[in-house]
Amino acid sequence: MLACCLMVTPGMPQTIAPVPPPAAAPVPAPTPALTPAQITPGAAPATTPPVAPPIPPTVTRLDRLSALGTKPDWSKLQAFHQTLTRAEFETVMRDVYSDLSPLPPPWKLESDGVVVKTGDPSKPEARIAFATRAESPLPGTRTWRRAAEMPPLKGRPPLSDVHIAIDPGHIGGGYAQMEERYLSFAPGEAIQEGQLTLITAQILAERLKALGAYVSLVRDRTEPVTDKRPSDLVDAARQILTEAGFPQPQENYTNLTGDAKILTVQWQSEKLFYRVSEIQARAKKVNETIKPDVVLCLHFNAEAWGDATAPQFSPMNHMHVLVNGCYSPVELEQQDVRFEMFHRLFSRIHDEELPLAEAVANGMRSATELPAYVYTTPNARHVGSNAYIYARNLLANRLYQCPVVYLEPFVMNHEETYRRLLNGHYLGRTLTAGRLQTSAVEDYVRGIVSGILAYYQKHRPS
Ligand SMILES: [Zn+2]
Repeated sequence: MLACCLMVTPGMPQTIAPVPPPAAAPVPAPTPALTPAQITPGAAPATTPPVAPPIPPTVTRLDRLSALGTKPDWSKLQAFHQTLTRAEFETVMRDVYSDLSPLPPPWKLESDGVVVKTGDPSKPEARIAFATRAESPLPGTRTWRRAAEMPPLKGRPPLSDVHIAIDPGHIGGGYAQMEERYLSFAPGEAIQEGQLTLITAQILAERLKALGAYVSLVRDRTEPVTDKRPSDLVDAARQILTEAGFPQPQENYTNLTGDAKILTVQWQSEKLFYRVSEIQARAKKVNETIKPDVVLCLHFNAEAWGDATAPQFSPMNHMHVLVNGCYSPVELEQQDVRFEMFHRLFSRIHDEELPLAEAVANGMRSATELPAYVYTTPNARHVGSNAYIYARNLLANRLYQCPVVYLEPFVMNHEETYRRLLNGHYLGRTLTAGRLQTSAVEDYVRGIVSGILAYYQKHRPS
């Protein structure tokens, strides 16, 4: 099972709270034996979490916020009044946004509208009326454009007018070890996911520009986008631990491993920094400054590698592509998460995001020849008919208010892949692990370019 990227992917609510019962096979963890995925709501539970006794299920608190989350303005959903039909709502909820849990959701479906519980005692419900036939939302509800809405090409390069933001996952550099994205099997050599995604993004940007696209990088160096640092988040970290039943946590994790390390203020504040505050800052940049038509989130995956000082190779190598969806009932108890899901759903982002992700997955499959990863945890589900596409509720693909294609190719601790990644980017073939091999970074870039090109060539006016 995935270690590096997916065990600790941005997007899981950070508040430690009652955890849903494990519904899948135990998941081996990388360095720590216990991750936030196991002590946060909505994330894939793996082993028995060391949290306080769960609150009885009758006590559903709908006013909670995700970690560092902001109270939503529910009145914004009024822009979607009478734009979506009930049939559309039910179809997309079933096919994309629901995790197919039988538990009742915190909203009520009526024949002509949906009534959502806001969690705000002064205005406890928000009602969005359904349309009798599908209508466009009011202007101003989105800044991104569908391929079909692009101006005709009239002989210009195929990606002209398309604004693509590339989000190189993680931070890298001096933060790679803190964010557990640093892998070294021998002295003097190492790969960092945050640096590999940046190199890939820079090469990808040039290729897309050459095809006419306007390209923005969400991060262009191995430095955080957020101006917060772990020391700014110590109080929030302590509160998370207190609410989880650990009111007197250890401050630092020096010489600690596993659960003991995770239950320190230091570890929690670092996590809040690089996983939550960082993604929130990127979302603000994407939504308020860049305003792209699509975001490509670049990651490299990994399997459990055990102790970071003595990592293990994995025989597995695979790829998958994520779209937003698969919200669990526990995640939906958080009012900001609930609002953001409704905002995405009524914006019909999925209508563009899924076919775009399918096109990119097809390009990536041809370029990398990697098999599809198969999830065994309930935090992801297949959507559509492409074996490589899963829906997950990640912080990035929930907060970025436009179509997001979130890529997870390559297992960094697969031995041959690791050696290819050590060689970085190059053209042609070089002798690696006993045979002539292409650059994994180059294959990644080629895969995305061919997928994006195929999508826009098919869907935009010529
Ligand atoms: Zn990653």
